[in-house]
Amino acid sequence: MKKTDSSIDLHCHTTASDGDFTPTQIVERAIKREITHLAISDHDTTLGIKEAQEAALKNYPGQIQIIPAIEVSTSFLNKQIHIVGLFIDEDSQVIQDLVFRQLAKRQERAQKIASKLEKLGFVGIYENIKQGLPKDSIITRGNFARYIFEHGGAKSFDEAFNHYLKRGKPAYVHSQWQDIKDAIEIIHQGGGIAILAHPKRYEMTNTKLRELIAYFKECGGEAMEVSSCQQKPSERDFLANLCLSFNLLASAGSDFHLEGAWRELGSNLVLPAKVTPIFEDPRFKERFLNLDKAHTGR
Ligand code: AMP
Ligand code: MN
Ligand code: MN
Ligand code: MN
Repeated sequence: MKKTDSSIDLHCHTTASDGDFTPTQIVERAIKREITHLAISDHDTTLGIKEAQEAALKNYPGQIQIIPAIEVSTSFLNKQIHIVGLFIDEDSQVIQDLVFRQLAKRQERAQKIASKLEKLGFVGIYENIKQGLPKDSIITRGNFARYIFEHGGAKSFDEAFNHYLKRGKPAYVHSQWQDIKDAIEIIHQGGGIAILAHPKRYEMTNTKLRELIAYFKECGGEAMEVSSCQQKPSERDFLANLCLSFNLLASAGSDFHLEGAWRELGSNLVLPAKVTPIFEDPRFKERFLNLDKAHTGR
């Protein structure tokens, strides 16, 4: 396992959505990886947060801060854009309403995807996936891709995704998600900070990407992810420059889902010197506890 170079990781997944590890297991892994600040940011759900916080408090008191977060699905220019809401109050009505709406929407979509996959020979796929998950977990295309791969339908997770689930492929189901503006408003009402997730993963031209970031900023978004695990220095530098030019704060998150993939908690997350990390901004740094114990490589 590659050495943890930053102990602050502001994006990861659990079995509450398409991660492989339960919230308790992700906390254990984070401790082994010397993480001091970990945001649990499952897709459109807050289901994993309490268990992770309880595990941290009980098993590793004072060693790790579990930051409540959510990765909200939105639509922009017909693309699915992810906004991380960091430090949300998961018990607030506005966040619970969001989770309720997204769960219903995602359940409906997952059933449509499953019925397409049934016709392609994956009998019982919806029930089988559901059976292995906690009640009310979010089923994403990632869960389907993993199932297809594990049941011999593809040679790898990526192949399963690209053959069946991507736009234009036989089990693709289009969804209209909420507007970025609405998602940011909800995150703010729920006490959180809005972060544009993995900006380079949307397969957009640089012009469109700038449009996206400009809109995100105009809607009140505070930060964008600049550092992620498997990233070339040139890409990180490109994102750091965008971050500066739009006067946004910088975030760093592994987007860790499962063992063996190239993403790992805390791996390669050092933020370039020229950007201001969200945890150094005077408005937000007090929310990060025991920052002096964190190592960030800066
Ligand atoms: P969904 O939100 O249901 O559309 O699914 C999104 C999840 O699918 C992401 O969080 C990833 O885990 C996975 N995913 C999305 N795009 C890709 C891709 N191009 N290749 C592999 N997995 C992907
Ligand atoms: Mn995912
Ligand atoms: Mn994402
Ligand atoms: Mn994610």
